[in-house]
Amino acid sequence: MPIDDPTTATPSEIDEELARLDIEHAKAQDALNKLTARVQRLVNDGMAEYATELQPRIEQARQTIVECEAAARPLDAEFERRGGWTRAWLVLNTGGHVHRTMACRTCFPSTRFAWLTQLSGHDETEIVEQVGKAACTECYPSAPVDIRNRPSRIKTPEQLAREAEKAERAKAKAAKAITAPDGTPLHTKGYGQIDTEFTARRSYADALAYARHLARASIAHHRDTIAEYREDARLILAALAAKHGRTEDDLCAELAPKVEARWKREYK
Ligand SMILES: [Zn+2]
Repeated sequence: MPIDDPTTATPSEIDEELARLDIEHAKAQDALNKLTARVQRLVNDGMAEYATELQPRIEQARQTIVECEAAARPLDAEFERRGGWTRAWLVLNTGGHVHRTMACRTCFPSTRFAWLTQLSGHDETEIVEQVGKAACTECYPSAPVDIRNRPSRIKTPEQLAREAEKAERAKAKAAKAITAPDGTPLHTKGYGQIDTEFTARRSYADALAYARHLARASIAHHRDTIAEYREDARLILAALAAKHGRTEDDLCAELAPKVEARWKREYK
């Protein structure tokens, strides 16, 4: 997420944004290289007029590169202004080590790294603590032996992104879900267990509309059934009120038109 004021941002926030800009920059550079190569081939093959059509995309890639560099500048400046902070990189191989710098002499120019921005600015002891046996001995020479024997608890950016996605999905699901006010499943007599708010609202309207229908037919004859459906409606209303922190009266008024509509459509 773009950072409005780098001076108040945490090292992790700044590095996370720098890492994002790095990736966007690399993608644009890659696109630019491919487009330029295509233009060259077209010109060589005497089809320069087709090369012109690629010009807007080339401009777009150049523009992205310039924007990424401009966005990174104040963030790099903030890193300098604070006298730097700790950073950690994970080598993307099976059993890859964590390094304090990509310039570590145990690595190669072709080594692929994941930037562990969640560790930026953290104490080195703490980083080693989390990284355990994945800590590079060259980068973290002072790490105690017992910590070196521990398994790594480090998560790659991909793992973190997957976890965030999962949490997001769980949140979306929770937003649609409904339970009884005490968190247990919402059981009703006429509609069974109700799991979603959508079903709860529809069942509420139906229960009251049906109860009204039966009451018109014969209160004496349907007394028990009417009471059951009213009780279902009451349970659903309590669940909805608890979920949204609203009063039952308030929700009852909101749902009244739905009850009316249901009654007219289904039972009148
Ligand atoms: Zn190292």
